[in-house]
Amino acid sequence: MYETEINLKPIGIVRSPTKDTGEVPIPGKPAEILVYPQYSQALLRIEANSHLWILGWFHLSKRDSLVTVPARVNPYLPQYGVFGLRSPNRPNPIGLTLVRLQAVEGNILKVTNLDAVDGTPVLDIKPYYEQDIVFSPATPYIRPYELSMRRDIFFKQALTHHQEECDHLYMAVRMALIADEYMGQITLPQVTLRVSGSPCLADTLQGLSRARLANPARFEFTAQDGPSQSIWEKPGRRLIITARQSVNRESFKVISDEELFEITVTE
Ligand SMILES: [Zn+2]
Repeated sequence: MYETEINLKPIGIVRSPTKDTGEVPIPGKPAEILVYPQYSQALLRIEANSHLWILGWFHLSKRDSLVTVPARVNPYLPQYGVFGLRSPNRPNPIGLTLVRLQAVEGNILKVTNLDAVDGTPVLDIKPYYEQDIVFSPATPYIRPYELSMRRDIFFKQALTHHQEECDHLYMAVRMALIADEYMGQITLPQVTLRVSGSPCLADTLQGLSRARLANPARFEFTAQDGPSQSIWEKPGRRLIITARQSVNRESFKVISDEELFEITVTE
């Protein structure tokens, strides 16, 4: 016999200044999770984890969608089945977010990047483990239509990987955005990457491109003090991005590609 119904009791609730689902950016937002007092003991030693999976119940979602277009990301994408997407609209609207645990204050967890609005019931909390990491998974290319959303998502990926908001991380994100523009999906196995510059630039670009040193060999790095450069190649196309100047938190979103880079494409 198949189960026809399962009863779940929320173990807590999301507290966030964000009330409207349309206001939650794709990379999520900082929020608090209030764990109900009867479950306090289940938080014992949870602070040993830097990252947690939060399973929430998207109580505002529609439950009758089996296929959908991820229109918030890009209205021109084709339809996908909801089990191949993170769409909140699905038969059981369970939300899954990987968050960074910033602080534990009694029954309250302060987290970053939570994809949930104020009042979202929380079903479960689980640790994120090293063995959860798949460095270069194959995924559909759900490319955001808006540059600002592509930038925010690359920035989140870069920070998750590099774990430090240094100037070279900003440079890497800007280079990856150019590569995405000229080369298409930069995580594909046929896209190779050669980086010269700082180890921080190389590490962040490796995290964004998922280019590994071997199997397949997609990544090379030369440490040098000269101008930062990344060379991207795939069959029939080569892209060379050379930095004309450095970039930092202030200039990251405002400096133009032309001011920041010399860009060469050869077919
Ligand atoms: Zn760094």
